[in-house]
Amino acid sequence: MRTQVGIIGGGPSGLLLSQLLHVRGIDTVVLERHTRDYVLGRIRAGVLEHGFAKLMREAQVGERMDREGQVHDGFAIAHDGVRERVDLKGLTGGNSVIVYGQTELTRDLYEGRDRLGGVVVHEAEDVAPHGLEGDRPYLSYRKDGKDERVDCDYVVGCDGFHGVSRKSIPKERIREHERVYPFGWLGVLTRTPPVSHELIYATHDRGFALCSLRSPMLSRYYIQVPLSDAVDQWSDEAFFSELKRRLPEDVGAAMVTGPSIEKSIAPLRSYVVEPMRYGRMFLAGDAAHIVPPTGARGLNSAASDVYYLYHALLDHYERGDDRDIDAYSAKALARVWKGQRFSWWMTTLLHRFPDASAFDRQLQKTDLAYLFSSRHALASLAENYVGLPF
Ligand SMILES: Cc1cc2nc3c(=O)[nH]c(=O)nc-3n(C[C@H](O)[C@H](O)[C@H](O)COP(=O)(O)OP(=O)(O)OC[C@H]3O[C@@H](n4cnc5c(N)ncnc54)[C@H](O)[C@@H]3O)c2cc1C
Repeated sequence: MRTQVGIIGGGPSGLLLSQLLHVRGIDTVVLERHTRDYVLGRIRAGVLEHGFAKLMREAQVGERMDREGQVHDGFAIAHDGVRERVDLKGLTGGNSVIVYGQTELTRDLYEGRDRLGGVVVHEAEDVAPHGLEGDRPYLSYRKDGKDERVDCDYVVGCDGFHGVSRKSIPKERIREHERVYPFGWLGVLTRTPPVSHELIYATHDRGFALCSLRSPMLSRYYIQVPLSDAVDQWSDEAFFSELKRRLPEDVGAAMVTGPSIEKSIAPLRSYVVEPMRYGRMFLAGDAAHIVPPTGARGLNSAASDVYYLYHALLDHYERGDDRDIDAYSAKALARVWKGQRFSWWMTTLLHRFPDASAFDRQLQKTDLAYLFSSRHALASLAENYVGLPF
């Protein structure tokens, strides 16, 4: 098989890039290790920046998101028994975010790929990139017991943190930056009306909590837990009891609880690899960077990589201009690091660190007090949360 851009990974990054390029007449093949049902079954992100929403529309897959997604003009931070609102729209001069589950967004992207006749090969085993330092790269894989090959001009690694793309780059050609946090998020999904129509981030002496949602009848709640905890240690009753203890009383009292339909623990990690290019292969999304979910940057950072790469590839194919191909890694990383800074800051502000000294705790409290006493500080939070310009 021959294509222009060979993409490894059929998650949001790979599908969005493939769809955007296809709309502009550039041919792609996506190789995905799992089945479509498996990819669609993953419960992950839910808050989209306005820039991400624009990209979905440009890819001709934004219709359902615009119909069913919920525009959020603000969110709350709960601390010391009170709830304070961050007015995203007012503080940013009119920007907001859209709450729309990653599962729904991925479904829309798959439907878009089907509609245009895009090639997405599922259950592609042992995918490997080759010839990346030359000008004839190709991907090998096995499907239904047969060895296959895709020749292409460029390879894009959109295969997430555990994928093969980044691991194919010689260690001496990359630099890795990493911080692993000493806690995780225990998340529960329930078919119940959300306790609040806007997200509530809560900080408490017992730890962080988050009341999030996916739709008017689907709630997503999280609590900070030690890394040593296991999911089966937490019954639904124990989870909701702990969640309520970390929230202001009125929020806990108003909460409708129900049986969990998904429960998992996600460890928190910050990670960046530099550069995001090796020869004719580019990395995008979780393949190149991970953030802790506080601040909802993960999926949104993936979208900004896709934006830069899409425009760089358009310039290459439509005008023969390679300047943005050569600038991709630097441009993408400049924004990735801003997302890293913001996620680290929100994580540090709102979580309990087991090794925090009295000095650290006092700084944390002062940071929060300063935030709600300064419109400039709140505006900085809001500008980062709705998404910095690409
Ligand atoms: C548990 C969890 C919760 C999260 N919650 C949030 C949140 O609340 N907010 C937020 O903003 N972000 C969140 N994220 C992050 C967000 O989901 C990711 O940033 C986003 O999925 C990145 O998209 P991606 O396409 O780059 O990578 P992925 O979604 O990881 O997709 C990569 C794809 O590549 C495929 N693949 C992997 N290896 C291979 C291979 N060798 N060959 C072929 N295919 C391969 C995988 O099957 C997968 O389909 C969460 C992530 C996790 C894991």
